[in-house]
Parts: sequence; C-alpha cells; structure tokens
Amino acid sequence: MRPLINFKICDNSSECDAVSICPTGAIIWDSENKTLSVISEKCTGCRKCVSACPVGAIKFASTQEEEDRIKKEFEEEATRVGELFIDRYGAIPIGPNAGLKESEIDLNNISSGGLSVIELVDPKNIACLRASVPIKRLFEKDVYYLKAFSDGSGKLSKQFRIASFPALLIFKEKEFVGKIEGSYDIDNEADLQSAIKKIISA
Ligand code: SF4
Repeated sequence: MRPLINFKICDNSSECDAVSICPTGAIIWDSENKTLSVISEKCTGCRKCVSACPVGAIKFASTQEEEDRIKKEFEEEATRVGELFIDRYGAIPIGPNAGLKESEIDLNNISSGGLSVIELVDPKNIACLRASVPIKRLFEKDVYYLKAFSDGSGKLSKQFRIASFPALLIFKEKEFVGKIEGSYDIDNEADLQSAIKKIISA
C-alpha cells in the first residue's frame, strides 16, 4: 500500500502540500534528484496526502491490483500540468494574481476599455484545479482579469454585496454591470457561461 503520484499533472514542486502534511515523512522532496518521492515503508495509509493535492495528482493504492489500475489510469491521462495551472474559477490564484488580497484592489486601475473581471475567492474554500472551469473558456475575448483572496476588509464584497464565494465582478469600460456568485465546476460550466453571457449582453 502506498500513494502514487501522477507526474503528468503534478507540478513536482518542493512546495508540495503533501510533503508538509504527511505525518511520517513518507512523501519527501528529493533535493538531489529535484523530484517528489514516496518512501512506502514509512507510509501508514492515512491518505492525508491525497486530499492535500489541489489537482488530484495523488492516488492511494492499498492493493497490488489497485496499484496496477491507478498506474494504467495515469498512463492514459490526457491532461497536462500546463493546462491545469491556469486561471480557473474558484481555484487557487495563479501567476501574477497569486496572493493578491481584496483590500489591495483599486477599481480605478481596472481597464477603461472593454471587459474587466475581478474574481474573489474565499481562502477557506478553494476549488480543485482539476474540477474548476478555466477563465479563458468563459469569455470570448481577452478580458482584463484580476483574482484575489477575500479578506476581512470586505472592501469589495461589501460594496458589491457578495453573499457567497467564489464570485466574479464584471465591468464594462469601468462600469459595474453584474456579478456571479457561488460554486460552479466543469459539470455545470454551461450554466456559468450563460449566466455571464446574460450579464455581458444586457
Ligand atoms: S498516506 Fe499518509 S502516511 Fe502515507 S504518504 Fe500519504 S500522508 Fe503520508
């Protein structure tokens, strides 16, 4: 029995949450080979690592049969890491937005031309990257896009009366035209797309 890592979708980083969450040090960052590694003998089968991975790259095998099945699943995996670590609705902020706080957003700085979208996520309720909808699939044209963690300031969440997170604030030429609130994932992506279309076309 041991956890298996799908390196097709794992960003294989020393910052891996599973390394810090594993109570026995069975998942380590092998600094010599620059890769995550599993020491099966140390694993107690608690599965904390499985839920610690934001992209679902860690699966647990308790039998040889399960291990074979999971390895086959990984071989057939079509998704690639580059497709996962992009801006996705409700998921962890990526790239220049990583770590931005709601209180740091100045609406005066949003784009005066075209569409601007500000996404607010609750740090306590982050969606799995794999199940969340890529922002680029929600808007036909490139939009000015910012993503931030909602923080205690309530600077924007109060101003726009946001009742549930994640949320999208949509602006046309700096004018607020509507908002989306609550969870949507790839299973109800079409509902999210039509809700956005309704706001933009109004
Ligand atoms: S199942 Fe538990 S003990 Fe085993 S590697 Fe994962 S977190 Fe560590």
